[in-house]
Amino acid sequence: MIEVFKNVPLATKTFYGIGGPADEIFEIHDASDLPTLWAESCENSIPKIVLGRGSNIVFSDKGLLGRVFIPKFKKTLWRENVVTVEAGKTFQDFIEETNKKGFSDLCELSGIPGNIGGFVRGNAGANDKEVSDSILGVEYLNEKGYIHKLTKEACKFGYRESLFKKNPDFCIIRTTFELKEKLAPQTALDKTKRLLSLRWEKSSPGKSSGCVFKNPIVNGKTISTGKLLDELGAKGDQIGDIKISEFHANFFINKGKATQKDLLSLMNKWKKRVFKIYQIELESEIFICNEFGQKINLES
Ligand SMILES: Cc1cc2nc3c(=O)[nH]c(=O)nc-3n(C[C@H](O)[C@H](O)[C@H](O)COP(=O)(O)OP(=O)(O)OC[C@H]3O[C@@H](n4cnc5c(N)ncnc54)[C@H](O)[C@@H]3O)c2cc1C
Repeated sequence: MIEVFKNVPLATKTFYGIGGPADEIFEIHDASDLPTLWAESCENSIPKIVLGRGSNIVFSDKGLLGRVFIPKFKKTLWRENVVTVEAGKTFQDFIEETNKKGFSDLCELSGIPGNIGGFVRGNAGANDKEVSDSILGVEYLNEKGYIHKLTKEACKFGYRESLFKKNPDFCIIRTTFELKEKLAPQTALDKTKRLLSLRWEKSSPGKSSGCVFKNPIVNGKTISTGKLLDELGAKGDQIGDIKISEFHANFFINKGKATQKDLLSLMNKWKKRVFKIYQIELESEIFICNEFGQKINLES
């Protein structure tokens, strides 16, 4: 089943609460309903975006002059310790499902918002774990509407990176995980709950997309962008309604009516300042797009 909605403000669909209206939103309840519509959009160059939970994306103030596809399919298929899960499932629900089967491999990723598709595209991670650590393979839809299967190696996972980030015509449909860490189901669930409450305790209040910049790697060493920005006195700086969190300098908060323009101005300002002082080129961790769904790059 496909549900279609017209002229929906994208601000209501994202954690940041930024974005004008989308011409059309398609909520896809069955994976088999997507290929024809997807291929048709690609063939006719209709601007399009896949949207998960909207926790890592910032739409244009003009909205999207095209189609937003929201995978709502979320089936799981278990074969002992190997599980295939569809893109629309919330990652937290998936972690808890694996816990109930007696696996604890994914507990460390507890509390990161998002769906399977968004997690895999950005290789989400926390607590020294990345989602790709447990992945065996990924199935995606290409621009012709065909489903391809890739091994983990072919997905080219890296720090918040994957092949899918470079190919906006690829839509992740399902992912297969191999789980190896066994625990009693209740113990695994308790571990998840414990990590979840630790995350809540440390989290920065306000509407955001988590860290706006990646942590740069300099001479093989990962540097905390939050620390760099803090050293430069970024906390509390504000442009329009976007303010840098007082709790974590890599969290930029929407104080109410922030626009994409405000966010880009504040990100560009601090990216340039960091480069001037440290000669480190920061990269965006969030996907920021124009009204045609194309990625907007930060200024150098
Ligand atoms: C408070 C907060 C804390 C966060 N903490 C962390 C953290 O600790 N670690 C971390 O890694 N991230 C973190 N994030 C970022 C975010 O949670 C992750 O990037 C998450 O994986 C995004 O999933 P999503 O479903 O919300 O994706 P969306 O925001 O909906 O989309 C993100 C990108 O993925 C694409 N996409 C979505 N689904 C698909 C699909 N099926 N096929 C192809 N492309 C797709 C979208 O087009 C978009 O480009 C945090 C975010 C917030 C708000």
